[in-house]
Amino acid sequence: MFVLAVIYENCTGCHLCELACSFKHHGVFDLSLSRITILTKPEVQTSVQVYCLQCQDAACERVCPVDAISRDKNGAYIINYDRCIGCRECAYACPFGAISFEVEARPIKCDLCEGEPECAAVCPHDAIVYMEEKKAARELKKAKAAGVAYGLYGGKETSEHPRKKAEEAVEYLLELVEKSGELDI
Ligand code: SF4
Ligand code: SF4
Repeated sequence: MFVLAVIYENCTGCHLCELACSFKHHGVFDLSLSRITILTKPEVQTSVQVYCLQCQDAACERVCPVDAISRDKNGAYIINYDRCIGCRECAYACPFGAISFEVEARPIKCDLCEGEPECAAVCPHDAIVYMEEKKAARELKKAKAAGVAYGLYGGKETSEHPRKKAEEAVEYLLELVEKSGELDI
């Protein structure tokens, strides 16, 4: 099984992954249609990638009242739009904010691009890497020992450091929202 691993310290906040994601899935460059979100806090040069962890025990799958979410052969949770009734329960249940909506209230989330994630392919700084799960776990161990901010997105583990960075970035965004009345990322 391959998983998406992220090296937070490599991310420059260029948003290329978001643009590539929206183009791959929707044919347009539109940050609001990306299934990955980059939270940035320029004052402390922090950028954090937020997206689906493809949890081992996924809340989104559990709460869906019409069993519209299931795992595919690549380990990605996929939404079956023939079944989905647009109730938003999956988005409310996801603890990571990894499900958003298109204008017609259609939920969208990372589907690992059928095993060829565009975000990992396009990232110019290797901040998102799609790698074999065991190799990713070994890399995580090494990174932790070296004090590098690193996260393993496969429902297994993320180091404390990136979580802290994520919290800071979220706090910053909330401040922005309070100031401007809208979230502009
Ligand atoms: S959408 Fe959320 S709950 Fe569902 S698998 Fe992804 S991270 Fe887990
Ligand atoms: S919005 Fe669709 S996929 Fe999400 S819980 Fe409701 S029916 Fe299931």
